[in-house]
Amino acid sequence: MSRYWSDSVKQLQPYTPGEQPKINNLTKLNTNENPYGPSPDALSAMQHLLNDDLRLYPPPNADHLKDCIAQYYELNAEQIFVGNGSDEVLAHLFNGLLKQDAPLLFPDISYSFYPVFCQLYDIEFEKIPLAEDFSIATEDYQRLNGGIIFPNPNAPTGKILGLDAIERLLQANSDSVVVVDEAYIDFGGASAVPLIAQYDNLLVVHTLSKSRSLAGMRIGYAMGNAELVEGLERVKNSFNSYPLGHLQIAAAVASFKDEEYFQHTRDVVIQAREHLAEQLQALGFEVLPSMANFVFARHSQHNGENIASQLREQGIIVRHFKQDRIDQFLRITVGTEQQNQLLLQTLAEILG
Ligand SMILES: *Cc1c(COP(=O)(O)O)cnc(C)c1O
Repeated sequence: MSRYWSDSVKQLQPYTPGEQPKINNLTKLNTNENPYGPSPDALSAMQHLLNDDLRLYPPPNADHLKDCIAQYYELNAEQIFVGNGSDEVLAHLFNGLLKQDAPLLFPDISYSFYPVFCQLYDIEFEKIPLAEDFSIATEDYQRLNGGIIFPNPNAPTGKILGLDAIERLLQANSDSVVVVDEAYIDFGGASAVPLIAQYDNLLVVHTLSKSRSLAGMRIGYAMGNAELVEGLERVKNSFNSYPLGHLQIAAAVASFKDEEYFQHTRDVVIQAREHLAEQLQALGFEVLPSMANFVFARHSQHNGENIASQLREQGIIVRHFKQDRIDQFLRITVGTEQQNQLLLQTLAEILG
């Protein structure tokens, strides 16, 4: 604490990202990174740009990337907003769209960055408890609100909300923006993107960090009605005109063009998830049905935090949240088949 900090900075409680330890031979299953690398085309696209032209500013609107995303999802470029990771996209939309008189609604168990953005931008919010089975109970969102946001699949539960339920939410809340944070949607869930044509209050947020394995490049985007996007552009152009550099734009475009690699690595992760879930159940874990690249699991007899710390001693890190209702759960990223087997073997030893 410094006396030079502003009052608002003194009060901030920043988000704590999953750790990125510099330890060799670590089996890192804590931050939902993709175990397979980015498309080789994305890597070579970046390599081709490592020259003197980097002295030039990137195109401020990343038009080439917006066109590419628009084409991929059959939208118009005016319906696409891009940013430095979806966390930045989220920051701008909290600031520009979700700061209203009525409180913002989101699930009590969801992405823990949401309340941090609320604090940063002084946004009132209400956490709506998940149902007993950890699903989002859409009927609980039928109350006065200044916006709704939730991850789908939800994080850290991995559970998916169906499009019919999302559509009911959009209809019942036509006066507020509904944001669906689809960070994990490529791992098997149905995207809300096709609903954009019918609902001007829908914004769908994606990232290239998970399914496209580009977490290190920081690329995210939002899709929705052109007027919502225009609002986001106003915030972005009052903050940083160039959130994406030349390398980010090129990597993202190349990744979208390499559909084969994308589908292949995604399918491998989905298969490994199903296998991992079955084997965890065989070890006595309850595993929530996951549509993400992680599973959320608790053991009937062993304490979650203890398991996490014993795994850590063996060089395997998973994520544990000290939060009501979920403090017995572990969130385990789906790794390579080899990493998953090492995890399962180690768990078998720990559990005796
Ligand atoms: C990983 C994640 C993000 C952030 O993704 P970045 O693009 O890497 O910033 C946003 N929302 C959820 C739910 C996530 O899990």
